[in-house]
Amino acid sequence: DTAPPPAVSGTPHYILEHTFGYTEFRGDQQDIIDTLVRGRDALVLMPTGGGKSLCYQIPALARRGCGIVISPLIALMQDQVEALRAAGVAAAFLNSSLGYDQVQDIEARLTQGELDLLYLAPERLLQPRTLELLERVQISLFAIDEAHCVSQWGHDFRADYLQLSCLHQRFPEVPRVALTATADQRTRREIAQRLDLENARHFVSSFDRPNIQYRIATKNNPKQQLLQFLNSEQRGNAGVIYCLSRNKVESTAAWLQSQGFNALPYHAGLAADVRAVHQRRFLREDGVIVVATIAFGMGIDKPDVRFVAHLDLPKSIEAYYQETGRAGRDSEAATALLLYGLEDVVKLSQMATTSEGSEEHKRQERQRLDAMLGLCEITSCRRRALLRYFDEELPHDCGNCDTCLEPPATWDASDAARKLMSCIYRTGQRFGAAHVIDVLRGGDTEKIRQFNHQQLSTYGIGADLSATEWRAIARQLVVRGYLQVNGEAFNALQLTELCRPVLRSEESLQLRTLPKAATRVAGNSSG
Ligand code: ADP
Ligand code: ZN
Repeated sequence: DTAPPPAVSGTPHYILEHTFGYTEFRGDQQDIIDTLVRGRDALVLMPTGGGKSLCYQIPALARRGCGIVISPLIALMQDQVEALRAAGVAAAFLNSSLGYDQVQDIEARLTQGELDLLYLAPERLLQPRTLELLERVQISLFAIDEAHCVSQWGHDFRADYLQLSCLHQRFPEVPRVALTATADQRTRREIAQRLDLENARHFVSSFDRPNIQYRIATKNNPKQQLLQFLNSEQRGNAGVIYCLSRNKVESTAAWLQSQGFNALPYHAGLAADVRAVHQRRFLREDGVIVVATIAFGMGIDKPDVRFVAHLDLPKSIEAYYQETGRAGRDSEAATALLLYGLEDVVKLSQMATTSEGSEEHKRQERQRLDAMLGLCEITSCRRRALLRYFDEELPHDCGNCDTCLEPPATWDASDAARKLMSCIYRTGQRFGAAHVIDVLRGGDTEKIRQFNHQQLSTYGIGADLSATEWRAIARQLVVRGYLQVNGEAFNALQLTELCRPVLRSEESLQLRTLPKAATRVAGNSSG
């Protein structure tokens, strides 16, 4: 008959059922587990919520010895170890939160072969004392979690991760698996190189998160836009709201509280115990909203996060993908809402220009920002563009993003673009958007008088459009590469080569039509 053969105790499938209580492997899990059980190395790229943990937990249990898990996050370690213990697995962690006796006890259990899994922070693992201890015991595998921390250009970079390549030299016979939810090819190559995993099997899952609805709207009145979104769709739901600065985190959280939401701030400037309390409340209570900087989130495993909202532009598509990926891990419908404006573009280009690091680093940061902006301004399916960025081709439009649900209207902006370009040129490519727009609209400001700009031929030629409309045009022209923001010169707008054919009327420009109502949120057709 067709009944499956009884699972043998100690086989991966038996462990899956009897220890973890699941009936089927998901996606590449089985393949990855078999690879490790056979003693080969693996590099695993799987989206958040894809089920990475079992990929090393099961082979650690199936093989002899203790599995060593390297994770950058103490809070995450504790949660995982608690869950494993509850499932009957002999798991422990070693980190700075433990007292001397506890450490002694765990080390003793390790040497006596009583542990199945031991979680360590990289800096702990790399201490000579720990490495010597590990050399005296049987190790089933090394799992390097959040492996993108090895990437120097990512915002999660940890110098300790670079030294993890020593594991290969010191423990050549122990299989290693590196796991990450960061998908782009560059980071993948970097991980493989730096962790000496070029001969490992690479497992790349689809990064599509079909249950997340992507929406990207321009910032008009962000508080009202957020409030409308929360009130009309997300009442009582758990969510994360990302802001760029600590100040904005605090003020947004306070404001949401005053509006009756259960909102808590989270950023690296808060005391550790406050952060821990807020994180715990988010995880354990229903309907808590965390307002946070990007310090919040890595490794947060809360399945029922219904929305992630960005009130500032993330600095790369990788960051956007990872942050939005914290929504809907339970596969139920979730929403990712991003609000962005010209000031974000200016601020981030400036940060990219003035940041520490080599010219090459800055160039790459600007490229990543440009790609993010491109995603904001496209008029086609967001999901296709997002996945294409990770070298994954979706065969059709998704039907679950704002541009699919409500195709954006476009207009012929060639004439307006020419006016703006001329005005930038006439003012000497030395001024930021605000002043150029004042000149275009025929404003009467001190700066205009100071520079005698009311004398220019372009003075007042753009009075037919509002300042908001001009900002949208400027933003789209920056995003599409017609204009650049010079972060080293007061964020002056400057023309690029691309302007030529437009100025000569050889090329026409279709831009997104501006939404009419200022408080409208993309994707909400009633707004
Ligand atoms: P990741 O680390 O990739 O973000 P996790 O390992 O935390 O994901 O897994 C996400 C969720 O999916 C967890 O709740 C986990 O228990 C569940 N899960 C993982 N593998 C399976 C499976 N084969 N069957 C059912 N649920 C699974
Ligand atoms: Zn779509």
